[in-house]
Amino acid sequence: MSLPVILPGGASTGQPTTLGVMGGGQLGRMFAHAAQRMGYFTAVLDPDVASPAGLVSHCHIQADYLDEPGLAQLMERCAAITTEFENVPAPALRTLGARLPVAPGAESVAIAQDRIKEKAHFVRCGVPCAPYAVLQTEDDLAAVADTLLPGILKTARLGYDGRGQVRVRTRAELTAAWANLQHVPCVLEQLLPLQAELSVIVARGWDGTLVHYPPQANLHRDGILAITSAYEGNLPPALAQQAIEATKSIANGLSYVGVLCVEFFVLQDGTLIVNEMAPRPHNSGHYTLDACDVSQFELQVRTLVGLPLAAPRLHSPAIMLNLLGDLWLQGSPDFAQVLALPGAHLHLYGKLQPKPGRKMGHLTLTAATVAQVQAKALVACRVLGIEPLPGWSAP
Ligand code: ATP
Ligand code: MG
Repeated sequence: MSLPVILPGGASTGQPTTLGVMGGGQLGRMFAHAAQRMGYFTAVLDPDVASPAGLVSHCHIQADYLDEPGLAQLMERCAAITTEFENVPAPALRTLGARLPVAPGAESVAIAQDRIKEKAHFVRCGVPCAPYAVLQTEDDLAAVADTLLPGILKTARLGYDGRGQVRVRTRAELTAAWANLQHVPCVLEQLLPLQAELSVIVARGWDGTLVHYPPQANLHRDGILAITSAYEGNLPPALAQQAIEATKSIANGLSYVGVLCVEFFVLQDGTLIVNEMAPRPHNSGHYTLDACDVSQFELQVRTLVGLPLAAPRLHSPAIMLNLLGDLWLQGSPDFAQVLALPGAHLHLYGKLQPKPGRKMGHLTLTAATVAQVQAKALVACRVLGIEPLPGWSAP
């Protein structure tokens, strides 16, 4: 499907063109920044009065995602609407999509927000995922194969940053963990021996054009992304290519429109396994703001309004450090010292309450060479109190 291009308006029409975003978190904030830089106005629908995206948008509709007057107001103002987190209820996107261009569409989001449907989609696309079982009934529980233990029990819906996940070693632990989760639909995944994690971000337009970033290597700590490395040599080239091809088939299989991130595991034996997908820009792609000629947020704007999807180019080796609320426990981190490093790019999301594990911002380091960017990341980690990667060395 091709839609007419939605231009920014303004000087040519006397009216601004407003783009809407469902959800007001940091991803919506960075979408708003990208849209505004290109001349669009932005409107955000989010129940939180102080949402990071609401704070920087021309209009913040403070309403629940399924609130009909709120949705009507958003449709009234906007020429097209996107979403910034996968837990926006698909029915809300369906309502909006009946009247306006909405990307990603309700059907893609409905699949990505339900691990059971998501895994079925991976299987349909022929991309291997972790061995798993669906838990919806007591019979499902009784039928769980011993080979899935030890495993990770994950709620089918509403999990993020490792929330809604419990590691279980035995059948007794599994039974107790599922009861603790009130027997909501879950998947039990075999606990896999990971060697590395990576993700691939693609943008796919209304006409099926698809562009991608080079895969980035990710380190998670306690189920939360901690560090992303994006540079040549971060991953074996054949593995990177395999991940790109798998991501393309996952996006094409959904007839996806928008920015999509697919997360993968690399097992100890080198096998590539798909973990999950996010129907939106992703934390592991934040480095694209500073290290690529077009960011994942600009590609989100371009896909939404039907502008050309130029293939992005990584112009500098980059390392992204997530800044979690833990760093604020003794007051503000020493950002002045960090910003003394050439190539340090600080992004804070305007959140006023630091909490352990809460994503407050990120720091991207760029440099001319991989050795230099690693050396800078090492210094930044020391200043901020983040554990560095073992391979980084001082200059
Ligand atoms: P987010 O949406 O923030 O990426 P999430 O809550 O959806 O996180 P997952 O991506 O499912 O969580 O898992 C978080 C991390 O836990 C993974 O990146 C990986 O480090 C670890 N993990 C998850 N599943 C497995 C598994 N089957 N085997 C080994 N490790 C796993
Ligand atoms: Mg994940």
